Amino acid sequence: VEKIKMQIPLVEMDGDEMTRIIWQQIKDTLLLPYIDLKTEYYDLGLKKRDETNDQITIDAAEATKKYGVAVKCATITPNAQRITEYNLKQMWKSPNGTIRAILNGTVFRSPIIVENIKPFISNWKYPITIARHAYGDVYKSVEMRTKVKGKAELVFTDEDGQVSKELIHDFDAPGIIQGMHNTDYSIDNFARACFEYALDLKQDLWFSTKDTISKQYDHTFKDIFAEIYEKEYEERFKTVGIEYFYTLIDDAVARVIRSSGGFIWACKNYDGDVMSDMVATAFGSLAMMTSVLVSPDGHYEFEAAHGTVTRHYYQHLEGKETSTNPIATLYAWTGALKKRGELDNNEDLINFANKLEKASLETIEAGVMTKDLTALAGGEVQAVTTTQFLAEINQRLVKAL
Ligand code: NAD
Repeated sequence: VEKIKMQIPLVEMDGDEMTRIIWQQIKDTLLLPYIDLKTEYYDLGLKKRDETNDQITIDAAEATKKYGVAVKCATITPNAQRITEYNLKQMWKSPNGTIRAILNGTVFRSPIIVENIKPFISNWKYPITIARHAYGDVYKSVEMRTKVKGKAELVFTDEDGQVSKELIHDFDAPGIIQGMHNTDYSIDNFARACFEYALDLKQDLWFSTKDTISKQYDHTFKDIFAEIYEKEYEERFKTVGIEYFYTLIDDAVARVIRSSGGFIWACKNYDGDVMSDMVATAFGSLAMMTSVLVSPDGHYEFEAAHGTVTRHYYQHLEGKETSTNPIATLYAWTGALKKRGELDNNEDLINFANKLEKASLETIEAGVMTKDLTALAGGEVQAVTTTQFLAEINQRLVKAL
């Protein structure tokens, strides 16, 4: 058979441990036999990052800006133990953090839904996508523990030396203080990425904060979203038939639980951190969550939401076959291929990616799955190794093609 042609390459970012093994298996079994795969390859494996003083990560992010679409394998974020294990020059930063900063992007996470794995919330029928603002707030805060009486103040000195002060609290006993910030620029980028992605998915966008209590901080988020929406997106949303909807976070939580899903929920940094774990757990499994970084300029980086599955990698090194779930990594590839196809008007590529996704879901729905899913699934199930699972998907793909 003739292989599907690609015009413009995908930026391919390889990674670490078990996901690096699966990355190659997916390419060999499900992509290379069918596509004349064009990629610009960046090895973000920890060894290469160390060798290049992490320049490779920056280059990969810059390439994403150039070509518009990237697919990334999970990577190790080094800690003290990894420094010894890999004999590193230094504790390199999280590649995801570096790429996100360069692309100014927002991360959107959605569950992959199959019929035989029921969400814990029985009325959830469609995916709920969480958009998390990944800058500032408590993640860049400064804190103090005070042991004596004293006055805490919020002080701002402007560039001309003018000082504004607000009393935080007059302490008559020990206590705690925290100062945090955000920038209009970052909130603006977050809002645009959310509006763009809602248009892309043709799904409603919800946004929630606690602006009734936080009358300056959270209210500014609400205002920036509203202003950009009215000026630049309202018309386009109407044309596509979707809605932008702001509500208080407490109201949002209640509505999300009672909903049937099928929308994007934009959250501030901390809310997004917590809610994405809640949504992932309630839908079933981290191994079934996809993740895409979207920049306000419309650049996309697709990946799995999970890490490098270290425990399975050590088994793999002992020569054991593992039953690691490749679905989220596979969906990173299909997501990237579909986006590339859309941008290049490559129908064949889009069709192929859709068929591959369908073959994957059909495999699980036929009861053939990796071990992490067998406890969650209803009906007859059979646990298989990753290699067997990919072969089963391939059989169904061949039929579909
Ligand atoms: P992890 O996601 O690799 O594993 C968390 C748990 O979920 C483990 O019990 C694991 O067995 C299970 N799990 C995750 N994905 C699975 C899959 N596909 N199939 C079967 N089981 C799966 O996270 P971790 O153990 O906290 O971290 C391992 C490494 O991954 C760390 O070095 C960390 O820095 C890195 N990490 C990378 C990313 C990323 O690149 N996006 C994200 C998270 C963690």
